[in-house]
Amino acid sequence: MTRQIAQVAVDNATIHFDKCYSYRIPPPMQGRVWPGSLVLVPFGRGDKPRMAVVLAVQEETQENASPRLKSLWDAAPEQARLTPDLMELVRFLKERTFCTWFEAVRAVIPYGAQYRCTLENGRPVMQNCLNRTTERVYTLAGELPAKPKPGPRQLAAVEALRQGPLTARQLEERGISKPTLDTLCRKGVLQEGRQDRMLDLFASIPFDPQPITLAGEQQHALEALLPDLEDDRPHAALLHGVTGSGKTMVFLKLIERTLELGRKALVLVPEISLTPQMIHRLKSTFGSRLAVQHSALNNTERLLQWRMIQQGNADIVVGTRSAIFAPLQNLGLIILDEEQEHTYQSESAPRYDAHDVAKKRAAIENALLVFASATPRTETYHAAANGKYKLVTLKQRYGERPLPKVDFIDMRAELAAGNPREVSARMAQELQKNLDNGEQSILLLNRRGYHTVGMCTVCGHVLNCPNCSVPLVYHKPQQALMCHHCGHTVQPLPQTCPECGGKLRYSGFGTQRVEEELAELLPQARVLRMDQDSTGQKNAHEKMLAEFGRHDYDILLGTQMVAKGLDFEKVTLVGVLGIDSLLFGQGFRAYENVFSLVTQVIGRGGRAELPGRALIQTTVPGHPVLQLAAAQDYEAFYREEIAFRKFGLYPPFCAFCVAGFVGAQEGAVALAAHRFGTLLAERAARRPHIPMRLLGPAPMNISMLNGKYRYKLTIKCRNDAAFRALLRETLEAYAQEKLPQKASVVLDFNSDGDL
Ligand code: ADP
Ligand code: ZN
Repeated sequence: MTRQIAQVAVDNATIHFDKCYSYRIPPPMQGRVWPGSLVLVPFGRGDKPRMAVVLAVQEETQENASPRLKSLWDAAPEQARLTPDLMELVRFLKERTFCTWFEAVRAVIPYGAQYRCTLENGRPVMQNCLNRTTERVYTLAGELPAKPKPGPRQLAAVEALRQGPLTARQLEERGISKPTLDTLCRKGVLQEGRQDRMLDLFASIPFDPQPITLAGEQQHALEALLPDLEDDRPHAALLHGVTGSGKTMVFLKLIERTLELGRKALVLVPEISLTPQMIHRLKSTFGSRLAVQHSALNNTERLLQWRMIQQGNADIVVGTRSAIFAPLQNLGLIILDEEQEHTYQSESAPRYDAHDVAKKRAAIENALLVFASATPRTETYHAAANGKYKLVTLKQRYGERPLPKVDFIDMRAELAAGNPREVSARMAQELQKNLDNGEQSILLLNRRGYHTVGMCTVCGHVLNCPNCSVPLVYHKPQQALMCHHCGHTVQPLPQTCPECGGKLRYSGFGTQRVEEELAELLPQARVLRMDQDSTGQKNAHEKMLAEFGRHDYDILLGTQMVAKGLDFEKVTLVGVLGIDSLLFGQGFRAYENVFSLVTQVIGRGGRAELPGRALIQTTVPGHPVLQLAAAQDYEAFYREEIAFRKFGLYPPFCAFCVAGFVGAQEGAVALAAHRFGTLLAERAARRPHIPMRLLGPAPMNISMLNGKYRYKLTIKCRNDAAFRALLRETLEAYAQEKLPQKASVVLDFNSDGDL
């Protein structure tokens, strides 16, 4: 037998040293190591155990053989291997996001499917991160002998198993216990095996398909998309439909057709809070061959759902960003709902955009990719307007329901009238009216906590986090100041200024404070607060939304998680609080974000029989972005925005890459960032055909985080292979000068201007 060599990439590599290493495959492992296999290797001078992924397997030849080659220590079983499809995604992530091989591996498979190193009899071996969660399963293997006369339980067991294998749990539910089963196994009547525990996360949702009749416009949208679904080539489309136009109904029809074609569908939503609603619709329509992938599942649930997908037992997968890596085969349809949401972009390595991965997957699988939104990203709409994606539009709400009527409340007048509250008098009145009519309201305030900042009334000192250059936020239930970035907590609450001993004044409003105001203003109203602090517990979103849906509450108050996708028929009033700070926020997408948030939240109202209305509290009621959002006029907003993007040279007219530098000493970080800029500029000068503009270095908006200093370079460029090669060379030169020790570097192509 010829000897084989595995080329592997190891875990815990830095981007600068993430190379291919060669190892000999020892004879007992030959034939069970493939590209995509997870293996354990001795690494470095001390032969430290490291997890690794196999990139290639080669025959040993005179050229690549070396007496110094080390051998693999262990290899995971074949079913744990990354399939060629997943390996293609790993390669894609590595090439596009400058992550390491292993960071990409960790992104595409869930924690439970990964391995770690452990010692067995003093020898390092691989162990599942999660012990396999299996259960006993019984199959009929022979006939029940007539003598001795079988008991009723035995007969019942055999009868039940004639329909096919059953698990121990299913048999127990029919009153058949383990001793009975053991006896039957001994007699050779049954065979016992093990299988992954089946887990029906949605058992409580009934399968209750309702015939769907699409409205005229919806039918046209479907007909425009069907040929691209049925055709065996990759396609992408933008389904642009106003809020309440019934985009979900179009999805259901597309999925139905996908399944008829014998293919599978992947539906992404931007937030965990939106999964219950989507799961409910899909399960009741299509039954239980449905799996979910999102970070609120525990590791076991996530692994079992993942295996169910991997083994071909799911036809539809629903999930958040990382579900884009779900190991579905024969994928025919990918939907990104609310495609404008920034949650589709990962903010840690690998810093990918689910849009890009979805395009790649659609290309690999010859699938149809549908981006859907009432307020698409400017880049997406631009691509659709220019024929890169098919543009499909829904202009009307279902059932000719009118869009909510929008009014502004001028908060300058409110202040002048001496109202110290964040909830204006008019807003309180309207909430009261809804309460009297037995209708529900949604209030958006995109800031959690109680007060926002504490400031000294004497010297003006602001209470900042000692580790981060941001103000601490007062949280009432804990009676503490907390940093929303690093979690730093100050308890008890300071009453005097640490600088001068002067009196502190807390000001600004968060959801907790508004909750309290509502209790004072509308004592009978049942208020449900939904933000990161109130939804920490498992299934909290689901529970809360179900309760609000049952009208256990009158007012749903929350951060951006209440703005999108929700569909409650009794909601007739939507209130927007504290939007101005976002309007004047930094980043070139600030206007787009505000337009989208306001349009989306307004769209939560008046979706059924009852007409809706919305109130926006602001100090700048004439602001064009707010005016356009109030009119729900996306096209007009797009025309303004695309002109701004062109004029200022922002995406889609260039790619926008932020290089972030983080380190312990401010001067060294600034210098390292500067040096990176020089290294890049020198290399770019040798290749004048590569367009590039370099800005900075400058401190990031949050110049210190977790006690580390942060600088950035902004690079406007064309994100193609040539440019990425240039960046890669620069990273290597940066590493050769040992600069990563002074400041680590990350590259982000999804940034809004900062990291
Ligand atoms: P969008 O996602 O576009 O905001 P939805 O798909 O949530 O809108 O639809 C809005 C509301 O209208 C939902 O309550 C939905 O059930 C209803 N609806 C839309 N289209 C239809 C249809 N063809 N038949 C019945 N109900 C519909
Ligand atoms: Zn902090």
